[in-house]
Amino acid sequence: MATEALGTATGKVFKNFIDGEWVEARSGETFENINPADTREVVGIFQKSGKEDVDAAVEAASQAFKKWRLVPAPRRAEILYEASRILTERKEDYARDMTREMGKVIKETRGDVQEAIDTGYYMAGEGRRMFGATTPSELPNKFAMCVRQPLGVCAMITPWNFPMAIPSWKLFPALVAGNTCIIKPAQDTPLSTFNFVQALVDAGVPRGVVNIVTGSGSSVGTPLTEHPEIRAVSLTGSSEVGRIVGATCAKSFKHCSLELGGKNPMIVLDDANLDLALDGALWGAFGTTGQRCTATSRIIVQKGVYREFVDRLVERAKKLKIGNGLDEEVEMGPAVNKSQMETDLRYIEIGKNEGAKLECGGYRLEGKDYDHGWYVVPTVFSDVDAKMTIAQEEIFGPVVAVIPCDGLDHAIEIANGVVYGLSSAIYTKDVNRAFKAMRDLYAGITYINAPTIGAEVHLPFGGVKATGNGHREGGMGAIEFFTEWKSVYVDYSDKLQKAQIDRPE
Ligand code: NAD
Repeated sequence: MATEALGTATGKVFKNFIDGEWVEARSGETFENINPADTREVVGIFQKSGKEDVDAAVEAASQAFKKWRLVPAPRRAEILYEASRILTERKEDYARDMTREMGKVIKETRGDVQEAIDTGYYMAGEGRRMFGATTPSELPNKFAMCVRQPLGVCAMITPWNFPMAIPSWKLFPALVAGNTCIIKPAQDTPLSTFNFVQALVDAGVPRGVVNIVTGSGSSVGTPLTEHPEIRAVSLTGSSEVGRIVGATCAKSFKHCSLELGGKNPMIVLDDANLDLALDGALWGAFGTTGQRCTATSRIIVQKGVYREFVDRLVERAKKLKIGNGLDEEVEMGPAVNKSQMETDLRYIEIGKNEGAKLECGGYRLEGKDYDHGWYVVPTVFSDVDAKMTIAQEEIFGPVVAVIPCDGLDHAIEIANGVVYGLSSAIYTKDVNRAFKAMRDLYAGITYINAPTIGAEVHLPFGGVKATGNGHREGGMGAIEFFTEWKSVYVDYSDKLQKAQIDRPE
């Protein structure tokens, strides 16, 4: 198998990975992966692929599935263990590549690679679990059980904000379960997917079992979701794209997992530890430049502590150090691209026009160190009404809306009053109120005295309403998605026995 070393060279051309070979797109065209902190740097050049490339990858994955599904799961798992070990060895290089391609600060990109490592070790353990069930039969001399089976060829379509962690949430469980895969990374962050797959290849994944096809949503994503031989599609992205992908998959009865947008609330009650809540608010709202599906984008604060909270939040937001994420001192990087920066600025204008009070930020950062990057200053709006656009729609930038509330019931009503339901948080020292919030916040994740971000890989991850379609990644949820049940009955009575009709004493 060709395992051309990918390295970290600037401006290098990266090919698609199909059937164990690095190949050019049939179109002969490419696109550039640009550093958002300094747009003069081309991080890599990637293939602009289309339907023919997708067809070739599906053919390779279909052929590979014939053998891969028969490899014992504990043996498949050994490749995951080895890939995780390799990722650990390369963690620093891969984190630096990631910061260059998407701007997240280096501490966070190290965390992103670590999340892939953790997922690998967790999912490798599944190779010796992947539990099914045995259960009594209603008939004598008959044995009943159900076992997990792989689905076949699976497509993974990923976003740019967790460019190694999210591919790992999908590829590792799919592989250990015996599926073969085609991954289409986001156009802003293909390099981290290449690095991840390189670790898998070096760990010994057989040819055709994992394939990468790069390109746009319409030219690569759509053919993947339409291809009749693909049995499952796992998408992480916006709710808008999720709606299209879900509808397309339904036409050919594909399994489809959708992990989509969020508008995550943090509630701060009068009795909260305010220092702790402020630390959480800053990390939740401005970590990853607010570009997390779980970012804290609404802070709902009880009136008794509202003014103090806003003043202290603004004071600290103004002090955040912004810049190139490779600088260890920098706390917040740029927006991922020009279009996301423009979206942030557009929402800031909407917030002002709708009457929210702009407390700090609200503009693009320019000047010597910033002219070549897409920097938006941390932005805090106060006196936000829960129905305003900036309190309802996902912005995906460093813009947070602070909303006053009367008490717990009012806060929960506001928190639940959006179309999304991914993460949620509450700061209180009152155990009764904390438990009420755990029960009543309608979301896939609730944190008590911690911000809305910080998921661990062995727990289910996903959300309700427009955040998804009921599946979960992480933990056992992922194995659930990438396998399907087969019920097996073994009749050792040597005679025809009819279920429901023969009723032995
Ligand atoms: P996006 O929806 O624009 O793109 C996601 C992926 O889908 C990309 O690879 C894109 O090329 C592809 N795509 C676009 N149109 C397609 C189509 N018609 N058919 C098939 N594929 C298509 O999202 P993004 O901007 O890359 O990421 C940000 C979004 O992802 C935010 O909404 C964020 O909340 C969400 N997100 C959700 C989670 C989660 O687990 N719930 C995690 C991270 C990000």
